[in-house]
Amino acid sequence: MDVIGIDEAQFFEDLYDFCCKAADNDGKTVILSGLDGDYLRRSFGSVLDIIPLADTVTKLTARCEVCGKKAFFTFRKTAATQTELIGGADLYMPVCRQHYVNGQTVVETSRIVLESTSVHHQTTQLSCLEAATAAAAAILQSQ
Ligand SMILES: [Zn+2]
Repeated sequence: MDVIGIDEAQFFEDLYDFCCKAADNDGKTVILSGLDGDYLRRSFGSVLDIIPLADTVTKLTARCEVCGKKAFFTFRKTAATQTELIGGADLYMPVCRQHYVNGQTVVETSRIVLESTSVHHQTTQLSCLEAATAAAAAILQSQ
């Protein structure tokens, strides 16, 4: 085996050491794909850490689900905040910069309003935020 393919590279914790050993010591060609950023556009896993090891890097894009332009970012259609939440089109949508910013603005505004009201129970706040996030996704998709 001379070529090793890795998909969803953001989920592999030993990515740097594995790729370093496979390419440098074992003479393997390693081809991997993964997300460089999470739904908050923060570095995702070790994907960015291995760029200095790479011969070439190509940044790919999807199509924005709203307008069809190049989608550089991921909008999460749920209020859950853990970084690794496995799901498909039910939880995530690829979006362009404009629609990412519009969606995040709606979600953040909802979060600020909910956090400023102390009468709500935590569970109520979460379900309200869940509704706001879903509404943001729906608004984006209806444009
Ligand atoms: Zn768009």
